[in-house]
Amino acid sequence: MTPKQRVLESLTIGGKPDCTAAGPFTGYYAAGHAGIPLGKYVRNGRLIAEAQLRLQEDLCHDILITAADTYYIAEAFGLDIEMYPGALPTARRALFSDLAETRRLKVPDPGSAGRMPVYLEAVRHLKEMAGDDLAIRGTGTGPFSLAAYLFGIDNFMLKLMDIESGEAPESDAKDMRNLLELMTETTLRFVTAQAELGADILYVGDSLASLNMISPQMYRNWVHPYHQRIFTALKERMQPGRQFSMIHMCGNNMDILADMISTGVDLIEIDAAMNLTAVSGISHNRVALIGNIDPVKVLNNGSVTDVGKACNEAVRQGVGNGRFILGSGCFVCPGTPFENLQALVSSAHNWGG
Ligand SMILES: [Zn+2]
Repeated sequence: MTPKQRVLESLTIGGKPDCTAAGPFTGYYAAGHAGIPLGKYVRNGRLIAEAQLRLQEDLCHDILITAADTYYIAEAFGLDIEMYPGALPTARRALFSDLAETRRLKVPDPGSAGRMPVYLEAVRHLKEMAGDDLAIRGTGTGPFSLAAYLFGIDNFMLKLMDIESGEAPESDAKDMRNLLELMTETTLRFVTAQAELGADILYVGDSLASLNMISPQMYRNWVHPYHQRIFTALKERMQPGRQFSMIHMCGNNMDILADMISTGVDLIEIDAAMNLTAVSGISHNRVALIGNIDPVKVLNNGSVTDVGKACNEAVRQGVGNGRFILGSGCFVCPGTPFENLQALVSSAHNWGG
């Protein structure tokens, strides 16, 4: 079975992978492994593809991952970004302070705006170089986080709380809805472009919508309807059984897990803060799971033995769900010992399907 077949079988209800698939979140980790400075990596789709393939040759994991940095879509709206040679880009200042200013925004073209083309190029090159043997997981920012980047996270959260408490003017609530709708369409167009290029896993990361940041009530009001729209629309646009949608939101989201599943997403990345047995108990195989080895405490700081133990426990718990891929729950830190990642991959592959 090729790695891609293994991944597709792991995501399909009733699928029969030959062993547990391994998909640690090795986005920018691959840059360090290939000796490419991060500032160069996030501006060049070919370098992303080459580094991902180089890592896969050495690690033999099953999923290539283009996701690496944060602001590649937000830049399309004019967010001012500071680029560094050896680090990920950061936002220099917020783009807006008043919600009314966002009324002029239009959905940008993913083929030409911001750094979205870099990530489309990465998928295109991976598809050319990897053929049909390896699964390709794309990238995408969810509407809530995308809107927050444009305002600065603190300001955005304060605005939302004013709207929720009824202190903000009525027009703010309307502008916020319109903004989130526009962000939803932006995310959807970008992710659809990756589906058209042949990405197998259509990823949306919306970590600012995690319960580490907002309440379950705020998630239901300001996040869930837009995620549902994205994953419903993607279902129409994906090849059934060949392409799958995915959500990543950091932290412990147990209290909204059932809501997350009800968006229609195919695969949820489960953070180490969540218990896989409890997650499986809610999911009952309604959604596929990937996770949840702690990227810091276990993968970065632990020994090979620690990683092996944590992985065996995670697989034991995860297979209880039915559809399961062993992963890291969140980004693998740069500098993580390579032998720890090898231990993760061999734990998965030694576990029969
Ligand atoms: Zn995360």
